[in-house]
Amino acid sequence: MSVPLDQEQSVRIADNLEAIQQRVAKAALRAGREAKGVSLTAVSKIHSADSVRAALETGHRVYGENRVQEAAQKWPPLKADFPDASIHLIGPLQTNKVRDAVALFDVIETVDRPKLAAAIAEEMEKQSRHLPCFIQINTGEESQKAGVMPAESDNFIAECRNNYGLNVSGLMCIPPQDEEPALHFAFLREIANRNGVAGLSMGMSADFETAVELGATHIRLGRAVFGERPIVS
Ligand SMILES: *Cc1c(COP(=O)(O)O)cnc(C)c1O
Repeated sequence: MSVPLDQEQSVRIADNLEAIQQRVAKAALRAGREAKGVSLTAVSKIHSADSVRAALETGHRVYGENRVQEAAQKWPPLKADFPDASIHLIGPLQTNKVRDAVALFDVIETVDRPKLAAAIAEEMEKQSRHLPCFIQINTGEESQKAGVMPAESDNFIAECRNNYGLNVSGLMCIPPQDEEPALHFAFLREIANRNGVAGLSMGMSADFETAVELGATHIRLGRAVFGERPIVS
């Protein structure tokens, strides 16, 4: 008897998720933390709705997408079938997409400038959807990368809370490609600690164990869950 392709994919993803959980558990143990304090965001960007459905069928419920438009095409039917799925926006957000983003996503991880914070706050009020927000910090101070500069982070966090009333539930970073990620993870944790921010979204497929050892509460894994992303031409 041959197994349908989507079922095969579901089994493969379930195996990947199981292997990740074991690695998270070991890293948490090394750091003296509880593995259940680490939430896995399965990054489904570029993967088809069928692949995401296969992942949803394993029971996994937390996903990450980096483009509003792509998520708006892919997710509404999936959300209709899996209403408890939660989607995190992990890519840059333009103010003209804030309305769609607030309507679709459950967590916005990439708040990084006052104009955007203001637009998100206004839209959340309009839609009565008060989503948890993460602030993206550009820990490597890379000019091409999104995120608040570290020196401005304390002020910006205070501004998001006090001026815009945002629920700042975490900080997020994407370390530079060619640097030791541990330094960036420790730096992000330090900024979070001194500002009383509980969540830390850090660690991807290549470095999530290090992130867990350094206190990540949210790890964002694409390739480790789904395999290599399809090539888009
Ligand atoms: C794509 C992406 C990830 C996942 O990367 P992998 O290397 O596939 O785990 C995590 N975070 C962000 C912001 C991404 O854009």
